[in-house]
Amino acid sequence: MAKQSRRVVIAIDGPAGAGKSTIARRLAERLGFTYIDSGAMYRAVALWAMRQNADPADMHRMEQLARAADIELQPAGLQILLNGEDVTAAIRTPEVGQQASVVAVIPGVRRALVEKQRALGERTSVIMEGRDIGTVVFPDADVKIFLDADPQERVSRRLRDFRDQGESAPPEAVAAQMQERDRRDRTRAEAPLTQAPDAVYIDSTGLSLDGVEEEILRVVRARLTNGKDFS
Ligand code: C5P
Repeated sequence: MAKQSRRVVIAIDGPAGAGKSTIARRLAERLGFTYIDSGAMYRAVALWAMRQNADPADMHRMEQLARAADIELQPAGLQILLNGEDVTAAIRTPEVGQQASVVAVIPGVRRALVEKQRALGERTSVIMEGRDIGTVVFPDADVKIFLDADPQERVSRRLRDFRDQGESAPPEAVAAQMQERDRRDRTRAEAPLTQAPDAVYIDSTGLSLDGVEEEILRVVRARLTNGKDFS
């Protein structure tokens, strides 16, 4: 097994429900890297703004909140703290997801969070997932993956997530919300969701988690060790 001595960055981007979080978490554990869920940071800012009744159209206020937010991602990305409070469950509601994509359009909010993301990825090897990791946050990432899946499959996965959390949601509503969020993420002017030219495209439709993990590991091995074993 080849051990990496230098810091390595793996960027995984893609639309909602493509399976980025699950796979990034698994890979981070397997490789001993730090897992960073950048979407959780946008969600945390959105949650704070909602609680403050702040107007999302007030771009200056939103940027101030993003800069002032003390966001901590606990090891393994399992716990998210906002200003010291555990908001792990609170940021996972569909409303917060929608609001996250609204505040994520604001360039000042993005600048503030990108700074925090770069600082988090500065010291250790990381797997960071989001929408603009390979294009903006870490354009020099060692490995870039664009993880996609059929819209229908992505909706099914989201519904399964809700069920696992003991919640239910009408499939049509989930599909409509996901479509709306994707449209906003793909069409915004600043750092839209798009595949970096040097990213490897993986369609996870119909693939098992193990299958996706193996595909990504193949790319990681090829990029980092010229084919030698890694992990
Ligand atoms: O990944 P997740 O679905 O939790 O992200 C919530 C929202 O945060 C996304 O819909 C997107 O608008 C925004 N986001 C972003 N850039 C990232 C990660 C998330 O704009 N790197």
